[in-house]
Amino acid sequence: MPVSRHPHAPGDIVTPERDVTHAHFRPGDRVVILKGVAGSELWGDAYKVVTSSWHTPTDEDGWRLFDAAGGERSYITAHPRYLVHLSSRCPDCLIYQQVLRTYLVPRLAGADEDIDCGWYSVTHLNQVVHVADARGGK
Ligand SMILES: [Zn+2]
Repeated sequence: MPVSRHPHAPGDIVTPERDVTHAHFRPGDRVVILKGVAGSELWGDAYKVVTSSWHTPTDEDGWRLFDAAGGERSYITAHPRYLVHLSSRCPDCLIYQQVLRTYLVPRLAGADEDIDCGWYSVTHLNQVVHVADARGGK
């Protein structure tokens, strides 16, 4: 299914408010960064956590991630707040997902293709940055 950027995608009011510590994640964890909606479900890209790495856009501790399908960008660095455990046994990540789903899915209902909300970009240093973090950026 094609993924398109939605011209009127809502801003992400959930992720910037998320309270999750760096220590919530560990090397080897399988995670996803949620970027939009596919049908009535959230959609995102999956990664494996590799090692602790400085997240320069926020000047905080982040995690280096491995993307098996990433090609030249196999390794990227993201802030812990962007990450969600793929395991369904993590209550913290489940709550975040539910809040995001409740906020986002009804607003994009009826679209017949997958939607990338355009919340994330990748810098030339392979740092993933959320639009809310880029705005205040240096
Ligand atoms: Zn978690």
